[in-house]
Amino acid sequence: MNGPLERYFGEYGGVYVPETLVRPVEELTAAYEEAVRDATFLEELSRLLRNYAGRPTPLTPAQRLSEEIGAEVFLKREDLLHTGAHKINNALGQALLAKRMGKTRLIAETGAGQHGVATATAAAKLGLSCDVYMGTEDMRRQELNVFRMELLGARVIGVDAGSRTLKDAINEALRDWVSNLRTTHYVLGSVLGPAPYPAMIRNFHRCIGDEARRQILEATSRLPDTVIACVGGGSNAIGMFSAFLEDRNVELVGVEGGGCGKGPGEHAARYFGSPTAEGKPVPTVGVLHGTKTVLLQDADGNVLPTHSISAGLDYPAIGPEHAALHDTGRVRYVAASDHEVLAAFETLCRWEGILPALESAHAVAYLLKEYRNTGKTILVNLSGRGDKDVETVRGIVGTGRASISGEDG
Ligand SMILES: *Cc1c(COP(=O)(O)O)cnc(C)c1O
Repeated sequence: MNGPLERYFGEYGGVYVPETLVRPVEELTAAYEEAVRDATFLEELSRLLRNYAGRPTPLTPAQRLSEEIGAEVFLKREDLLHTGAHKINNALGQALLAKRMGKTRLIAETGAGQHGVATATAAAKLGLSCDVYMGTEDMRRQELNVFRMELLGARVIGVDAGSRTLKDAINEALRDWVSNLRTTHYVLGSVLGPAPYPAMIRNFHRCIGDEARRQILEATSRLPDTVIACVGGGSNAIGMFSAFLEDRNVELVGVEGGGCGKGPGEHAARYFGSPTAEGKPVPTVGVLHGTKTVLLQDADGNVLPTHSISAGLDYPAIGPEHAALHDTGRVRYVAASDHEVLAAFETLCRWEGILPALESAHAVAYLLKEYRNTGKTILVNLSGRGDKDVETVRGIVGTGRASISGEDG
């Protein structure tokens, strides 16, 4: 939760916001810096994470899977957290900070609904009101999460603009924030947005890496050879990686959504993991939602749509710190296809009795693809649980089929 608060990561990051948001962003920076110097705040957040969210999460040696693939695999179990994913770390951190700033209302954007649920949960726990912006297309696709947020006392506000998805919901949330600054804090959901959000959110997720590093040292007396995490905006990955950045011998791998590679007009892998095949857009430097980073856009700067089997990886940009880590080569970014992800989902169910989130299954997919019979010690961040994805998987593989791996396409 504590840590440096970089404004820039190499050439990326910064504060690209309208004039009206400059002050609020500065106030947030000051409030965060002040809060993390206060032992009361740190203790209260630690207590919430421990007694309410379920930290520390276990590190599970994946014994059967390890024997099967010929590598020593450990799973960091963020899937066991309250609300089912790492997102609650950040939601609780920001909610507690908002309360300390005297705000009475949280707003958030959500795509698949996971961040909305985490924010609504934190708001209920801390006695704050909560409005969540969500594209109407996403609301249709994620009915159950809309209801979940409403049960938690939040109001879900449909956004009918643009593609009616996450990107449009963020625009609307920013607009709301500008008009309600006195009462409202905007809880951003990943390591995106203007400074201080990317560094602050990473710091709220650093517990993932700090715990995992300690746990794997306890279990094996050494550091892992490789750490793998999936990358949407990049928050679970950076929370994990940040504890290993200085360990030069530890290989760090971020896995993006590779899509199905078929949908016309859909750009599957949106970023570095994307194959630079002819005709595919190349990710370029640009500004989106207040930060300078790498994103998918056309020659006129229009942001292009993405497609992934997992809604949580479906965002056209990546956090600025990841863009910098890519450029220095410290982290390797790759992609897993929808098909590989489904096979990995099934593998983890069968060999370990764990249903991973489809996002997290991307990390497992790359493990299965590249590390068989290497004998390496590999730490995989299991960012969330797969209960929310069972319907999706069922829709693809049907109910009658016993196995999805080995299928072609
Ligand atoms: C939201 C989500 C992600 C993607 O977000 P990051 O900011 O890249 O971590 C990954 N896994 C799960 C389970 C999620 O809910």
